[in-house]
Amino acid sequence: MLTLTPSQVRLGRSAKNKAEAIRLVGQVMVESGFIAPGYVDSMLRREQVSATYLGHGIAIPHGLPEARDLVRQTGVVVVQFPQGVAWSPEGHARLVVGIAAKSDEHLQVLANLTGVLGDEARSEALAHTQDVALVVQALNGAAPPPEASDSVPPTFDGPHVQVLSPSPHGLHARPATVLVEVVRRFRADVTVHHDGRQANARSLLSLLHLGARGGTSLTLTATGDDADAALRALRDAFQSGLGEEAPATPTATAAPKATVTLDYEGTLVAGLSASPGIAAGPVWAFQRERLVVEERAADAVQEHRKLEEALAGAAAELRQLHEGFLKKAGAQRAAIFKAHLELLDDPEMLTETHGHIDTGLSAGASWRRVFESRAESLAKLAEPTLAARAADLRDVGRRVLRPLANVVEGEATFPDHPVVLLAEDLAPSDTAKLDPAMVLGLCTAGGGTTSHTAIIARSLDLPAVVAAGPSVLDLRNGQLCILDGDAGVLVLKPSERDHTKAATHRERTRVRREEEKLERYRPAITLDGKRVEVAANIAEAAEAQKAVDAGGEGVGLMRTEFLFLKRDDPPDEEEQLHAYRTMVRALNGLPLILRTLDIGGDKHVPYLSLPAEANPFLGVRGIRLCFEREDLFRTQLRAILRASKEGPVRIMYPMVATPEELTKARAITESVRLEVGADPVETGIMIEVPSAVMMADRLARDVSFFSIGTNDLTQYVLAMDREHPVLAPQADGLHPAVLRMVDLTVRAARKAGIWVGACGGIAGDPSGAVVLSGLGVTELSVAIPSIPAVKALLRGISMADAEAVAREALESGNAAEVRALVRDLLARKGAKA
Ligand code: PEP
Ligand code: MG
Repeated sequence: MLTLTPSQVRLGRSAKNKAEAIRLVGQVMVESGFIAPGYVDSMLRREQVSATYLGHGIAIPHGLPEARDLVRQTGVVVVQFPQGVAWSPEGHARLVVGIAAKSDEHLQVLANLTGVLGDEARSEALAHTQDVALVVQALNGAAPPPEASDSVPPTFDGPHVQVLSPSPHGLHARPATVLVEVVRRFRADVTVHHDGRQANARSLLSLLHLGARGGTSLTLTATGDDADAALRALRDAFQSGLGEEAPATPTATAAPKATVTLDYEGTLVAGLSASPGIAAGPVWAFQRERLVVEERAADAVQEHRKLEEALAGAAAELRQLHEGFLKKAGAQRAAIFKAHLELLDDPEMLTETHGHIDTGLSAGASWRRVFESRAESLAKLAEPTLAARAADLRDVGRRVLRPLANVVEGEATFPDHPVVLLAEDLAPSDTAKLDPAMVLGLCTAGGGTTSHTAIIARSLDLPAVVAAGPSVLDLRNGQLCILDGDAGVLVLKPSERDHTKAATHRERTRVRREEEKLERYRPAITLDGKRVEVAANIAEAAEAQKAVDAGGEGVGLMRTEFLFLKRDDPPDEEEQLHAYRTMVRALNGLPLILRTLDIGGDKHVPYLSLPAEANPFLGVRGIRLCFEREDLFRTQLRAILRASKEGPVRIMYPMVATPEELTKARAITESVRLEVGADPVETGIMIEVPSAVMMADRLARDVSFFSIGTNDLTQYVLAMDREHPVLAPQADGLHPAVLRMVDLTVRAARKAGIWVGACGGIAGDPSGAVVLSGLGVTELSVAIPSIPAVKALLRGISMADAEAVAREALESGNAAEVRALVRDLLARKGAKA
């Protein structure tokens, strides 16, 4: 927690208005040595961007990111305005907490402060107190409660209750968290006795160390004025299961899309199939950094402070994760992060760590020693669910350790042997750095089938399962598993038979793919003589050559925004020109569709400092962002148009929703074209917003082609976030609602005499390839490894059959019915969906 000293608090002040109050707060910050005077102006400007009123009479003014250089030292000051200062339409501020923070740590500090102060009665008291110590105490947090375990008498003379540990998993993290929460509502010191051992009920770790298995007897004793009330509440909480529900069977949550083709004997963790293939090997949790800490430190006071800051930061992160999962995946799945939060708040661990610091160890070394030793002893517990909490503790431990590490070598530690990689989620920049030779497959707790993790996994030809839930993060490194990217499951503790079946399946797939590869340069001409072009989706210059080598008939989608990720500033015109030229040359006359920047949504580019949005997928992304940042757009267009002098380049605008946007994008392109003296190039748009479908006839007048982005079109048509771990199974691009949109688009395009391609994920899915072709899409742009398979598939069917299936698909009730139609067709033809 942030350490506040009395000299940083001013009570009983008044200000005529917000600006005056901020200047006063700024003055205290300057006096405290936290900021240079210029920072105050930035604090005032920040209020114009977004008011910093939190509620309950609390405001937290701070400067804009660009003024970070004016911060001298991280710190907070508190100024009390008992009469209040009008701050925002939501209320008057009476406690104003000025924040100075280097880097992004202030976000975490803020969340921490809201936790301390966001309590109406408490903030009311603090708004009027004349006691500086009360404010200091409130911000710094209470001292850890005294150890209870040693003072508990062996016989239970005082108030006590007997309860049973929840079944079937015992007192593991989630129920123990609930227990801690109940105890915290009371002042009483509560001790849990089990099997001759005792635990402080305020300490999650202490409770976990009891190792109480499901259904075993526990005695709770309490001392203090509200001991009886606390015990009654605890007994009720135990009786209602401490928040535990009957364990879910993994297959019950299996995605409708995931058809388990292999009847595994091992334990299944159901997710979604994001990239096909089967891998078997040890699991390995992806961590972005390698943390190295100094062993000793000279200044213990500073180390204590560093530890508190690191704890506060980690707590804020976990609160954010908890909230995010709560919104997206429900309380059950979010509970793990709450349990992690409780682990952080463990008084025994903290006391022990501070104790090590007092002996001269650094904060990082002390913290690591404590959490590692506890994790080790947890791992030794007989009850597997409890032992698995060791992974939680290590996860939380690393989260705190990160800011305490003196050396963070490289951004991530990558495995040096082939593994199935587990991660919360993977950013495009993480996946891009993976060595495919060391990664057998990917399994993420979150994400969706059209998320960029999935897109990249497909392009790297790695089996991937997404939305498997946070339980995968509990797995111990080295544990053997089978990752079935076709079925969308992770199989734990696979049997011999599971391994044999998976190996047979893999071998069959390998042979089929070898055959398809031999034929990859043959065009995809259906049995009745209709041609469908199969092109590649790429994300970097070097992939153009790979696309050609895989039999691609051009590039149907180059996601140029990927050139802007993984770096600290945007590529300039020359750098982009070099990348686009490399592609044009590799394609050697084959067409290259360069999609202009599609930043926003899930593709963050931190250095652009774009304002955070409540709904980024509905915000300033794609072409909208290009208009906001016309400088970036023009630079990109210059590079594209200069590259177009060397070969067939087409320009495609993303996220176009209205004819006006298209007109504006074309006008800018035309002016840039005249500037660089290039010949006109064909332009097209992505069809990925429902309004573009409905206006397709108008839009078609001004472009040479459409390319349907089924990933976004699906999310916008079905109103389901493409990364949503719970909704993702239903967000299937083969839903008839989406297919009807495709149908409308093709009809409008045909009338206008332009061609339609598709470049979303379902274009490379066998069922999608058949139905889209049947609907009249004449170019499928797919991940490079899928090119030979899609071509082979189309060569094995007639267009008349595909059209018949497509007609039926439009009349179907859901995506599963559509998939069944294609399966039937392919079964008749002896092919495989
Ligand atoms: C799409 O939305 O289908 C698409 C191809 O674009 P992206 O996945 O890059 O948003
Ligand atoms: Mg898109």
